[in-house]
Amino acid sequence: MKIISYHELAFNEGMQVQKGMNFNVKKSYSIVLMSTEKNAPYVDKLLDDGIIEYEGHDAVKSDQYLKKEVDQPMANTSGTLTENGKFFQAADNFKNGKRDPAKIKVYRKLRAGVWVDMGFYDLIDAYRVHDGKRKVFKFLLKPNFEDINDQLASEYNDIQHDRMIPGEVQREVYERDHGKCTQCGSTENLHFDHILPFSKGGSSKVASNIQLLCAKHNLKKGAKFV
Ligand SMILES: [Zn+2]
Repeated sequence: MKIISYHELAFNEGMQVQKGMNFNVKKSYSIVLMSTEKNAPYVDKLLDDGIIEYEGHDAVKSDQYLKKEVDQPMANTSGTLTENGKFFQAADNFKNGKRDPAKIKVYRKLRAGVWVDMGFYDLIDAYRVHDGKRKVFKFLLKPNFEDINDQLASEYNDIQHDRMIPGEVQREVYERDHGKCTQCGSTENLHFDHILPFSKGGSSKVASNIQLLCAKHNLKKGAKFV
């Protein structure tokens, strides 16, 4: 999982990603932005098995209501689907065997201007729940490893487990290591690295086993363990 600036995010995608939910904005995938920070506008969660529970988005602001007090809408007033509706329909069609899961690229906000490239996920489920005030959408995104299936089995396992580092652990590690590679102090191409790899029994859940490494030192380390 690579740590990037917003500028790099926009460069990678070839577009300014302004909204949180962007259905089919790329030829073969959609893009979502998420945050697990306490002051985040939506309740997004990284679940234990690496699955993301992503919350739908609110109605457009209006003078008629407070947007956190009305149901998140499936459709716009014109009848066209909102982003919630588009994601919901894709999940529904997948569950009914009508299509493959929609492929979703996920970026998670670590702090202002700092993002984690979480890679690709499959949209496998969608439902609506009552959050105490109103109905909100929840979408389940399952890690998709298609793009890395040429890796060695042990590396594959380690990459899988990189995605299971809890949000608060990532944040703690980033702050502790001052946003720099622990080997050379570089602030470019940073990755979260298991100090003891998962395949050797290392934990993903504690900051003491995770560190920041630049791409160069991350590769060097990988080679050492093969
Ligand atoms: Zn380095």
